Amino acid sequence: MEFDLSPELAQLQQTVRRLAHDKVRPRAREIDVTGAYPQDLFDAFRDAGLLGLCIPEAYGGGGAGILGLTLAIEEVAKHSNTAALMLLLTRLPTGPVMIAGSEEQKQRYLPAVAEGTARAAFGLSEPQAGSDVMGMRTRAVPDPDRPGGWVLTGLKCWMSGVREADWYTVFAKTGDPASRAHDSVTAFVVERAWPGVSVGRTDHKMGVRGVDTGELVLESVRVPAENVIGEVGGFRLAMLGLNAMRPIVAARGIGLAEGALMYATEYVKEREAFGQTIADFQGIQWEIAKCAVDIEAARLLTYRAAALADAGKFTKEWVPYLSMAKYHATELAVRASGLAVQLLGAAGYMEEHPTEQWYRDAKQLTIVEGTSQVQLGLIARGVLQGDLWWD
Ligand SMILES: Cc1cc2nc3c(=O)[nH]c(=O)nc-3n(C[C@H](O)[C@H](O)[C@H](O)COP(=O)(O)OP(=O)(O)OC[C@H]3O[C@@H](n4cnc5c(N)ncnc54)[C@H](O)[C@@H]3O)c2cc1C
Repeated sequence: MEFDLSPELAQLQQTVRRLAHDKVRPRAREIDVTGAYPQDLFDAFRDAGLLGLCIPEAYGGGGAGILGLTLAIEEVAKHSNTAALMLLLTRLPTGPVMIAGSEEQKQRYLPAVAEGTARAAFGLSEPQAGSDVMGMRTRAVPDPDRPGGWVLTGLKCWMSGVREADWYTVFAKTGDPASRAHDSVTAFVVERAWPGVSVGRTDHKMGVRGVDTGELVLESVRVPAENVIGEVGGFRLAMLGLNAMRPIVAARGIGLAEGALMYATEYVKEREAFGQTIADFQGIQWEIAKCAVDIEAARLLTYRAAALADAGKFTKEWVPYLSMAKYHATELAVRASGLAVQLLGAAGYMEEHPTEQWYRDAKQLTIVEGTSQVQLGLIARGVLQGDLWWD
């Protein structure tokens, strides 16, 4: 068992740590206040080669894998979860293409994401279908004029990066609309420029401002056969992309928790009450210690999950390990940012400090890409079915 990062990954971690400190940190609050998309950070990530980190070298990426992207996101999320989300979006929509897509799709869509000349977004959720994905109503019917082609109609919502994206990985029912069977759903690559594709309402969010979430409207969009990801009815294969995402989302939680605890620790070492610093109180020290334990436990779970995903271990039997990382790290982010607010007292509640922003940003992490309850269900299923067993 090896706990050290390879020299290449350790180097990547140091490089991103510096970049995040120098470029992301000074911009974090402004992005939150204005809600404007931080194109300067996108450019900085592009110049540093971070947009293609987990895209294979054969398709113009860095080939650092899920673990490489996880490490980078952890560093960036210490300062800004919006910037971390920008990096996450290099994997969420491209994952199904990398796992199940055709060679032609990989050549066509992946290098542009790695180079930063195209952006992508991921459309699974619908107003009535979040956790319950099989409740989706977006439909794809065979195109009468183009053999193998499809016509898509429906509404996707809460889509991160919907406005900036050039293409979307979109899921639609190709089988019986009332069916709840996985083989009734197919994944497609849909280009923004195609007739019938438009961005609807964008949301006013509690946190992670600067990268919009919003609606993607599909009105009789004609999608050619070559833009089906995997097979028709191949939802299960495409969904493996989401399993492999768990450590990447977890990294947003870990980085946020680390940033919050370090900030609060610096503060309590300075702040005085009752003739000593706040850090001198044992009650405060124990809170810091418990949070530090949580952070290291989350890192171990997450790095292992990333290594599993990089080894292609994201099928059903590995799901509990992947879900644990996401569950633990994102719940930790909420606890750690809450602790940071508490340790700063009134100052932590005010905009002069980043703590209140971290607290708002953290909460989305327990909701996106499978809520905490969904992850607990998957972990429990793993135990009940013996995938996670210690004998
Ligand atoms: C900021 C943000 C960005 C997002 N970005 C994207 C994106 O890019 N692409 C995309 O497709 N979607 C995106 N989403 C949507 C996200 O994936 C969904 O919000 C999530 O899947 C939960 O669905 P829901 O909101 O409909 O909640 P619901 O499914 O309605 O759940 C509501 C509550 O019920 C609980 N619950 C549901 N089912 C069960 C169950 N079986 N057992 C126990 N509890 C249950 C949930 O855990 C939750 O607490 C985003 C959401 C947010 C907030």
